[in-house]
Amino acid sequence: MKVTILLICSCLVWEGLGKPQFPDQEKDPLFWNTWAQRTLKNALTLQKLNQNTAKNLILFLGDGMGIPTVTAARILKGQLSRQSGEETQLEMDNFPFVALSKTYNTNAQVADSAGTATAFLCGVKANEGTVGVSAAAVRSQCNTTQGNEVTSILRWAKEAGKSVGIVTTTRVNHATPSAAYAHCVDRDWYSDGEMPAEAVQAGCKDIARQLFENIPNIDVIMGGGRKYMFPKNQSDVEYPGEKKHFGTRIDRRNLVEEWNKNKQNANYVWNKKELLSLNPNSVDYLLGLFEPGDLPYDLERNNETDPSLTEMVEVAIKILKKNPSGFYLLVEGGRIDHGHHDGKAKQALHEAVEMDRAIGQAGLLTSIYDTMTVVTADHSHMFNFGGYTPRGNTILGLNSILSDVDQKPFTAILYGNGPGFKVVNGLRENISTLGYEENNYKAQSAVPLSMETHGGEDVAVFAKGPMAHLLHGVHEQNYIPHVMAYAACIGQNRDHCMSSSGASSLSAALPSLTALLTLIRLLC
Ligand SMILES: [Zn+2]
Repeated sequence: MKVTILLICSCLVWEGLGKPQFPDQEKDPLFWNTWAQRTLKNALTLQKLNQNTAKNLILFLGDGMGIPTVTAARILKGQLSRQSGEETQLEMDNFPFVALSKTYNTNAQVADSAGTATAFLCGVKANEGTVGVSAAAVRSQCNTTQGNEVTSILRWAKEAGKSVGIVTTTRVNHATPSAAYAHCVDRDWYSDGEMPAEAVQAGCKDIARQLFENIPNIDVIMGGGRKYMFPKNQSDVEYPGEKKHFGTRIDRRNLVEEWNKNKQNANYVWNKKELLSLNPNSVDYLLGLFEPGDLPYDLERNNETDPSLTEMVEVAIKILKKNPSGFYLLVEGGRIDHGHHDGKAKQALHEAVEMDRAIGQAGLLTSIYDTMTVVTADHSHMFNFGGYTPRGNTILGLNSILSDVDQKPFTAILYGNGPGFKVVNGLRENISTLGYEENNYKAQSAVPLSMETHGGEDVAVFAKGPMAHLLHGVHEQNYIPHVMAYAACIGQNRDHCMSSSGASSLSAALPSLTALLTLIRLLC
């Protein structure tokens, strides 16, 4: 703690121009030795494993939050509080266990969010574009759905008597959250208005409908996606004149009204004011749909009308934790991915910083003794940062050197592909006069694409709480819900939960049992 305070206090002590820019005490070996020794002391406490049963499970999913995004978000977070940034610690950095997750889909080397969501929610790898169905199902082929459904950890938790919740910054029926409750061969079948008529006739159900029909009474649902819940051409409550926000349902159903029926202590809210005026103690079921589609980027969020991810998470946990049997909560920072696809690194990184803030808030409302929290990503992006930037260089800024080939400046952040590619008079664009620190600046890319793509390398898995040590190496992505279910004694693997206080007391009892058996053998 002292070291951290020292760091914060000294972060603004810069030396003169042209000299190394770092705090003075970093010249003293004592500074680094003290910090490392403190870290070592903390690491040694981890030898006593937390083998409690997890009453609560929380999964934070940063969509598209590859490791370069985590590092850059860390630097940005520090720089937003006027530190140099590199030494800053994200909330997720403080999780004691870290693993790598192999993200490929069964039919794709570089994954999409649907197949990966099936892996980290249902425990089974699947094809890209499909949610909640095994790899035997074929994308967009309705008749391959039946018989190939796989269930999610959210359902396992609900069946075990826990409360369950979904919070996202995208549509609540977008790829990531939908694998928690839907079985659909096409992630784009948001409502019946987006489905081919043949698929509807063949009995396939849209994802919005499955949100309310598959797992009755999901306790908390928050995000965007309002238009998919209302009859086609019904005007939106927030944007009444705007056609693009009109309802999309051809079956003319009003899913919100249906949700409200026959429920006690159920609240539907569609703006921040309504959300924050709720008393979580008197709400058992919450449906919050804050936009017709996805929520806005956090940098562009209207603080009066739209809640932040952190605010949504806080309300969700306060409602869910009332259940004495605990809860499972899926939280998605879903627009990190969208920022990257647009080549807008600043948007993506601010989304990641906001999700980290939500992770901190969740930490304050729960305990590592009974809550397992996992933070991971579904896949990475073609995003990176580098060059030979000096310490404290603005993460969104320029390298301090020019290219020795075209003699032009370049930003630290670059994309491998995407919309930022631009040639002027046959040469790379000179960006020195552009607003490369502006919210919607598109960082340069090597290959022109209208949408930047996902990346194929492993992503990180950060874990804390009961059984977090079981996330410890390089794992297939579908291992994640198996560990979480094991920790909470739900789902298929419960043999270790026979004793009332879980595995720890069982393993403690084993040596004495062995001794007793030996004694009996000797006596016989
Ligand atoms: Zn994506």
